[in-house]
Amino acid sequence: MTNFQSYENLIDGRSQPAMDGETIDVIDPATGEQFANIPRSKTADVASAVESSERAYRQVWQKTSATDRGRILHRFSDLILQHQQELAAQECRDTGKPMKQALADMVTCARYFEYYGGAADKLHGETIPFVSGTTVLAVRVPHGVTGHIVPWNYPGQIFARSVAAALAAGNTCVVKPAEDACLTPLHFAKLALEAGLPAGVLNIVCGLGREAGAALAAHPSIAHLSFTGSTSTGAAVAEAAARRHAPVTLELGGKSPQIVFADADLDQAIPVILNAIVQNAGQTCAAGSRVLIERSAYDKVMSLLAARFAALKVGPGREDNDVGPLINRVQQQKVQRLIDEAVGDGIQLVAQGQLVPNASRQGCFVLPTLLGGVFPDHSIAREEVFGPVLVALTFDSEEEAIELANGTEYGLTAAVWTRDGGRQLRMAHAIDAGQVFINNYGAAGGVELPFGGMKKSGYGREKGIEGLVAFTTVKTIVLKHG
Ligand code: NAD
Repeated sequence: MTNFQSYENLIDGRSQPAMDGETIDVIDPATGEQFANIPRSKTADVASAVESSERAYRQVWQKTSATDRGRILHRFSDLILQHQQELAAQECRDTGKPMKQALADMVTCARYFEYYGGAADKLHGETIPFVSGTTVLAVRVPHGVTGHIVPWNYPGQIFARSVAAALAAGNTCVVKPAEDACLTPLHFAKLALEAGLPAGVLNIVCGLGREAGAALAAHPSIAHLSFTGSTSTGAAVAEAAARRHAPVTLELGGKSPQIVFADADLDQAIPVILNAIVQNAGQTCAAGSRVLIERSAYDKVMSLLAARFAALKVGPGREDNDVGPLINRVQQQKVQRLIDEAVGDGIQLVAQGQLVPNASRQGCFVLPTLLGGVFPDHSIAREEVFGPVLVALTFDSEEEAIELANGTEYGLTAAVWTRDGGRQLRMAHAIDAGQVFINNYGAAGGVELPFGGMKKSGYGREKGIEGLVAFTTVKTIVLKHG
């Protein structure tokens, strides 16, 4: 094993192993090789992190001015950019994602801290006209200690998205990253200290979801929880929070449609539709995993897509192949089984990418797959695969396109491809989704754009000013002065 490393939690400004010394193996998904371990924290480790964040909130962060909070976040943002290369290489090894994507992810992470750092001292309350002889102030205040449960697909970006907003609004944070992807959050927390973030304002506890994650969700001092992950875990986390009446933001799964009308500009649409499903090997909550095509354009769209799928190179992310491995063996086997079952049920396998010759047999690779002639009621057309699998369906009218688009339990994002202006807006209004893109698609959009789901894709919004306001609550002060 080369350069084996043991990572530790970051609590109260210090690196610490789990109290009972237990660890979890860290595996390179491109090779199957163990190259590190992380702490397997339990309830006591989580309790110590929360206590530290409570102290830091009362003693330091609550007394730090919004302007100073913003300055620290800006320094943090600069440090992420200065360390972009090593952060990206680490995230590429930990998650398998292609290096160019990991580099781009780090730019987005820095942008979150820049954006929310700039907004910290521009978030203010209001005065409210009330009974004569009184002045009423509606003051925006932070929640206190916030919990952040992060998944493995974008460990840097999803960390940055909620932590930057929470810190800017004056909260302290305890983060439980996913057991498959802790290295970027741990590295970020060290850079945050270097940027001047006081010890305890940001604590990181690694561990299993059912142990450390559940302990954080149930901890009585966590005043707000941000959860990003699967629909089923989201329900468990929301239930735990509801028992102590703490607010939760849930960012969950999706089955987002790309709706292509016959009048669409296909030169513009095809590369975007491809990227929307193969980016991050399809392990993106907002992956465009269904393409709904107007029947008269079906053959043309499918032949253009098939040529692109067949040309995709699949292999290690560090060599910048088009598609890297999935995160682990379990996900690889799950996605492969869903493809095999769909084909076994008579769905057409239209095209697949190719594994590069030097890809390790132990790597968790799945060939990006285009499936055609998919029945709308088949599970592969309705349920999230979380892998590089695009299912194609046809429609004959605008009404049918809307029915198909809204025909799953999810409602995260959608794209509509058409030159018809009236149809663009009719579709945007009719689709159940937190974000709708017309003639473009950015999975989850930029940091400035409010993002979140409808239906089983979750509730609450992150990103944009909406995401900052979510980390505050309003205190009303009524002053009688005669
Ligand atoms: P997951 O729900 O298994 O895990 C997410 C996080 O929750 C991890 O940190 C995990 O350790 C923790 N966890 C697991 N069980 C827990 C429990 N009982 N209590 C508390 N925490 C627990 O999800 P995943 O497999 O890591 O991520 C994939 C899913 O996340 C997909 O469904 C995807 O669509 C979704 N996702 C959504 C968004 C979004 O912004 N909407 C972004 C990324 C991923």
